[in-house]
Amino acid sequence: MALHRGHRELEPLWARHGIRILPGPSSLWLDATGKRLPVPLFPGFDTLGTLEHIVRTGYDHTWFVLDKKIIGKEFALSGSEQNPDLTGKSVRGVIGRARADVPGPVQAFMDKGVDFVVEKDLSALVRGMNALTDEPLIDEAALRREITARDREIANPFTKDLQVTAVRGARAYLGDKLIRTAAPHRILDPGAGPLIAVRLNILTRKSLGGLETDLDSRVLTEGGEPLEGVYAAGEAAGFGGGGVHGYRSLEGTFLGGCVFSGRAAGGRRRGRWADAGSRAGAR
Ligand SMILES: Cc1cc2nc3c(=O)[nH]c(=O)nc-3n(C[C@H](O)[C@H](O)[C@H](O)COP(=O)(O)OP(=O)(O)OC[C@H]3O[C@@H](n4cnc5c(N)ncnc54)[C@H](O)[C@@H]3O)c2cc1C
Repeated sequence: MALHRGHRELEPLWARHGIRILPGPSSLWLDATGKRLPVPLFPGFDTLGTLEHIVRTGYDHTWFVLDKKIIGKEFALSGSEQNPDLTGKSVRGVIGRARADVPGPVQAFMDKGVDFVVEKDLSALVRGMNALTDEPLIDEAALRREITARDREIANPFTKDLQVTAVRGARAYLGDKLIRTAAPHRILDPGAGPLIAVRLNILTRKSLGGLETDLDSRVLTEGGEPLEGVYAAGEAAGFGGGGVHGYRSLEGTFLGGCVFSGRAAGGRRRGRWADAGSRAGAR
């Protein structure tokens, strides 16, 4: 199964129903004890590598620490109901993303999400973070050092903080600059606040496994032979987690493989029917 960073849904459809964040690159990603995740495990960079790291920490939650300026520009929530402008094909709504302070669905989570802490100052933020976990694992002084070390690099054009460099790189692309990546700024700048912490849980979202198939979407037996009359496509054939695009494939490249394999299966079947029809016609 694929595992993703997510927080709990406001109106859960099942127990521990989570919703996935599609984050921009600026949030600080911290382990359960408040240590910054190692390079290059920045938001949106390497999901599988990040998961390998998280499971080694011994805790199954992590934290994003950010501010209102970042959440307004960089948080997108996965799922059609969280993106009414896109699913409603509203050009005006999409353009509005560039102007909105904080998108409505994201604001709802800031107001009511059980994994969200929103506070004016760091002391209160840490108190709120520790109130969300069984043990108080976050040390305020250590977290302040971590954020201050990152904030200091904002003024350094030759910084070796690779996340700050990545943020600058993302903004070199106009689309990201307009709607996806906040201008580099200090997280502890009161003008960018309030401060926000989001407790992230590991959630499963799609199948990375599947039946082995050939290019005609015929299911193969253990011996590698096509199993007569049995086809598989989409996630059932391993296309949900990348498939043709590889194990660490880019986000958003899954549907294409699902459609491709479905088309191959359908075409193959049509071909078989046509063959059968012409054979029948010849008789
Ligand atoms: C929240 C979310 C966001 C995603 N966003 C993207 C994205 O932006 N870009 C991208 O490329 N990919 C995205 N994906 C992945 C992609 O959507 C899926 O990999 C793809 O839709 C899988 O297609 P599928 O036809 O294999 O399976 P599904 O779309 O899951 O279809 C399986 C169907 O089988 C039905 N079914 C199940 N059991 C039975 C049964 N016993 N009898 C009859 N019917 C049954 C189900 O109801 C379902 O309709 C996203 C996935 C999720 C969950």
